[in-house]
Amino acid sequence: MSRSSASALSTPQSTPLSVRLPAMLLSFAAGAFLLWGAGFAGADVLHDTAHDARHAMGLPCH
Ligand SMILES: [Zn+2]
Repeated sequence: MSRSSASALSTPQSTPLSVRLPAMLLSFAAGAFLLWGAGFAGADVLHDTAHDARHAMGLPCH
């Protein structure tokens, strides 16, 4: 009963290309932004971002 519905959800053909293609492009854009965005950003910018994230999580810093 639940096996058939679970296998139907995990079948690749059940997802149309019009849904998969934007998802692929979006994930590629996110990965490219992480790679080149972090690569071209200055070290101080990266440090400030990590610093703000650390404070936002409430971790002891300074
Ligand atoms: Zn701090």
